[in-house]
Amino acid sequence: TSFGFKDVPEDQKEHLVKGVFDSVASKYDLMNDASSLGVHRLWKDEFVASLRPGKKGPIKCIDVAGGTGDIARRILDYARENFSDRETTIEVVDINGQMLQEGLRRFKKTMYYNTPQVSFHEANAQELPVPQFKDNSYDLYTIAFGIRNCTSIPSVLREAYRVLKPGGTFACLEFSRVNNSLLSTLYDQYSFSIIPLLGTILAGDRDSYQYLVESIRKFPPQPEFAQMIRDVGFETGVDADGGAWTNLWGGVACIHTGVKI
Ligand code: SAM
Repeated sequence: TSFGFKDVPEDQKEHLVKGVFDSVASKYDLMNDASSLGVHRLWKDEFVASLRPGKKGPIKCIDVAGGTGDIARRILDYARENFSDRETTIEVVDINGQMLQEGLRRFKKTMYYNTPQVSFHEANAQELPVPQFKDNSYDLYTIAFGIRNCTSIPSVLREAYRVLKPGGTFACLEFSRVNNSLLSTLYDQYSFSIIPLLGTILAGDRDSYQYLVESIRKFPPQPEFAQMIRDVGFETGVDADGGAWTNLWGGVACIHTGVKI
């Protein structure tokens, strides 16, 4: 299912826009804030700035597991504010239709509403449907705080490789491994006691927060994930501190990139 602003009939648009502020979307915002102390906003800014969308002219982007469109909005803003680019486009893809509807609602307040710059599509990152998501079609593929939730990371990476144009960039922002032992101890305390407690207090939902913490622990550490990215064919940098990834907050989050060759 896809829905942009142009192809939604007026009566349904109303429904989409007014639609219940879905509990998933509101909880998810809370969850991001709780798990990152609100810092996910800064990380997202840094992630997008590091990609410099619009620098070499308008590009075609896909933001997978895009949720309510946080990354999409930043990409379009960055291209417009820095390069007066109003032609870069982004397709937001998510498996959860309610997240996408909340995204559509949020975009209504922006200048991108009702333009070809943004559209929303319900699909699984592990199996992007063909012919909608064709081989070699995008300049930039982003996935932020989403790959960790997918059951098969290699499938997601293979699909990213397939849909990117040769020379296109894969960019992932995800919680990762902290490399400093003091920070790591503090972070463990925070995530194993405070986050589930916050979950209970803020959302009455300890289990989801417990899941969140566990999914972060299970996600492969930086060198392993970089290798997985290379395994599907991308070129990444090779050294730990330079090219292959960029740690944010000592590895609490991390940016990995790869170029399709
Ligand atoms: N990228 C957004 C952001 O940073 O604000 C959303 C991140 S949210 C924590 C994770 C998103 O991944 C959810 O919207 C969820 O529906 C989506 N997701 C989980 N599994 C997915 C899959 N297999 N394919 C596509 N999206 C998926």
